[in-house]
Amino acid sequence: MSFDLNSLLRPHIVNLQPYTSARDEYTGKEGVFLDANENPYGSITDQDFNRYPDPYQSELKEKIAAIKNVKPSQIFLGNGSDEAIDLLFRAFCNPGVDNVILLPPTYGMYEVSASINDVAVKKVPLTADFQLQTDLIFEAINDKTKIIFVCSPNNPSGNKVKRSDVLLLLKHFNGLVVVDEAYIDFNDEPSFTNHLKDFPNLLVMQTFSKAWGLASLRLGMAFASEELIKILNRIKPPYNISGLTQETVLAAIDKQNKVDSMIQKILDERDFLEKHLLEIDAVQKIHPSQANFLLVKVPAANQVYEQLIENKIIVRNRAKVQLCENCLRISVGTRDENKAFIKALKAILD
Ligand SMILES: *Cc1c(COP(=O)(O)O)cnc(C)c1O
Repeated sequence: MSFDLNSLLRPHIVNLQPYTSARDEYTGKEGVFLDANENPYGSITDQDFNRYPDPYQSELKEKIAAIKNVKPSQIFLGNGSDEAIDLLFRAFCNPGVDNVILLPPTYGMYEVSASINDVAVKKVPLTADFQLQTDLIFEAINDKTKIIFVCSPNNPSGNKVKRSDVLLLLKHFNGLVVVDEAYIDFNDEPSFTNHLKDFPNLLVMQTFSKAWGLASLRLGMAFASEELIKILNRIKPPYNISGLTQETVLAAIDKQNKVDSMIQKILDERDFLEKHLLEIDAVQKIHPSQANFLLVKVPAANQVYEQLIENKIIVRNRAKVQLCENCLRISVGTRDENKAFIKALKAILD
């Protein structure tokens, strides 16, 4: 395989002159800081937010590197994974010219980001059991194909895609393969970050939004080669991760034990939900899940969805999505929430 990062990039990105912030030019922590037009008296809040944060989040990346078994230089941090997705389009895809391959049903942001960036999307649907159709993917690739997005465990189906299929793409596709592992913490499959040294065309995404319970902070991670991470750093907004987020997540990483016990609770609750869904005759299918949600097929899903809302129970209606006909996606809740959902669903379906 012959992967060449510079020839894959949009030409103007290769030599782009990035913004250099005040905190780029002097990185020491001590001194009289008269370089960034900050307020020297502090903040109007109880906590001080008057200084610009570290634009490269060095301390946080050291800590993430240690738990993820990668080098700090292989990490990009974004304002949610969604920022990384958007930056990939802007770095690699010429609007109106290039295309990406999506594997529906999958996470909606890939297509939205493509549309915002005026990038064509080629869709190669998953099989009925939500695996890759690698032959069709290779047929769909042309010389304008820049990125293939693979989501595993997949949203909304919940299953892992076969590792060997993803490896096949990595071996034979000369563009980028993005493996979105937003739900990796809910199963024991090893991360694709283990393959970073073998594949310069691999980018792995993870997030603090799901298992870590930090969705509101907005912190997504991308892991890739140093060269690729450098590109993302050059085109990102300089202070894309707030100081508050950096500090909070630094402290959160010390509490990994608590995350592990929350994950275990969520998995137990997923079993609870599944068990009680199986008791409802009208439920037609519960797709096996490696994530913190279940995709469930019911008769007349649109109506069931509306009736659940009347009971103030909000699930994700996937009824119109390809291969998810009449399916609702149920996020695993607390025991009380799950009981309330099951009770309402029983009443609706009986
Ligand atoms: C939830 C989710 C994300 C996370 O996005 P953030 O912007 O980091 O909150 C990424 N990918 C998939 C498939 C998801 O379901």
